[in-house]
Amino acid sequence: MPVKFAKYRTQVRARRSELPGYEHSGKLSRGHGITVKDIHDECGVFGIYGHPDAATISYLGLHALQHRGQESAGIATSDGQELKVYRQMGLVADVFNADVLKTLTGSAAIGHVRYSTAGSSTLLNAQPMKCIYSGGSIALAHNGNLTNFASLRHQLLARGHLFQSSSDSEILLQLVAAHYAPTLGDRVAAMMTQARGAYSLVILTADQMLAVRDPHGFRPLVLGRLEGAPVVASETTSLGLIGATYEREIEPGEIFIAGPNGETSCSPIKAPRLARCVFEQIYFARPDSVVFGRQVNTLRTEFGRQLAREQPVQNADVVIPVPDSGTPAAIGFAEQLNIPFAMGLIRSHYVGRTFIEPEQRIRHFGVKLKLAPVAEVIKDRVVVVVDDSIVRGTTSQKIMDMVRSRGAREVHLRISSPPTRWPCYYGIDTPSRKELIAARIESLADIAQELTADSVGYLSVEGMHQVVSGGGGDGYCDACFTGRYPVSIEDQYAPRGDKTDTV
Ligand code: SF4
Repeated sequence: MPVKFAKYRTQVRARRSELPGYEHSGKLSRGHGITVKDIHDECGVFGIYGHPDAATISYLGLHALQHRGQESAGIATSDGQELKVYRQMGLVADVFNADVLKTLTGSAAIGHVRYSTAGSSTLLNAQPMKCIYSGGSIALAHNGNLTNFASLRHQLLARGHLFQSSSDSEILLQLVAAHYAPTLGDRVAAMMTQARGAYSLVILTADQMLAVRDPHGFRPLVLGRLEGAPVVASETTSLGLIGATYEREIEPGEIFIAGPNGETSCSPIKAPRLARCVFEQIYFARPDSVVFGRQVNTLRTEFGRQLAREQPVQNADVVIPVPDSGTPAAIGFAEQLNIPFAMGLIRSHYVGRTFIEPEQRIRHFGVKLKLAPVAEVIKDRVVVVVDDSIVRGTTSQKIMDMVRSRGAREVHLRISSPPTRWPCYYGIDTPSRKELIAARIESLADIAQELTADSVGYLSVEGMHQVVSGGGGDGYCDACFTGRYPVSIEDQYAPRGDKTDTV
């Protein structure tokens, strides 16, 4: 078994061990990068077709998606004859400059920002990925994770395919290239019958740009228009930055194609149910984006209101957010209970990538570098700290310590999402189940004790769904809260229809 493939199999087995029924195998071990949250954004994709400034527009579009991935950035362009690709490790602003953009000629482009959720953080795994197949050159950029990537990779290796990276995105590229069909759209449709899990894609050839979304619709992908040119992006915030108008979502299961003969769309695959990632709305997406048809800032404020109804704090003097992602929920919480809102923690936006390191000792240091308490807001007060989620609890504990050290009389932690008890397999890098505080510790009182908070309260699963969809949770994935995985990660390669998707 090739070394890299052996590593993949190990990862998949380890992740399986965290599924319901595998709880006690204790196999998982994986390092993770560090931010204020111990949970990471995934990737962002962008594409534009038929615009004279395609590379520069893509550069700007990727800027607005930087929150979705900070490890690498890349752009591929087409001048109608050939594809050019430039990708490097680093932030969009560091990777590209005017000289680089000048070399990316052509009126069609796709772009990508990456945080690694499958495959390691190396330049070989950066995107867009490009190869030459029987139809010419093709480049692909992917947001999401395949749940059957190990078996697909094994199948392709057995058939003689060569891989340059350890990314599951290369499997998608190879699947498209491997199918013999009259059109590229047909090849992509055939790929969709094999790929399982989460994928929002942009694909570029010499004369076409495609946007593709998996049939469950895990990750967002929207269509807009700039001076007549179709634009696709992971989030609407990209469209706003470049001055494009929003048209609609790329629908789950849809293949959108822009080419010399105009635009076409088809939906060859239907899933038994939608599984849009509710964590996009809780934490990942930018608050100014519209995700799955809902304005994210409004939703987050409403999460805070619902949390206040479910988990009020008596006699509180002030509500402070954990910035930036906890701010809308804190505003909603404070408004609902008519408690003063204040910025009791200030976030530094200038902490460099030096501190994105998977070392426990650096993580602790990093929290202090990123957040600083404001004593005037906190001293002698009963303080409610509102955040959008707790993952390991390490960061929350540091925040509780910070607030208390500035003289708070009581510190109550309120979380505008349900307890995160399960890892994600669909493109979000969550720690292992044994590292998740709400999986390790059952009672709220014990969690509060570990975090040194006077009390802890979470939004209920029912309350979350009430806010998102009016109740029930239809059409959404909530597996990291409930363990109900909409697509089994134990899927191995099987012709479509041989297995059921739902659990
Ligand atoms: S498991 Fe959680 S983070 Fe992953 S797709 Fe589902 S809701 Fe989103």
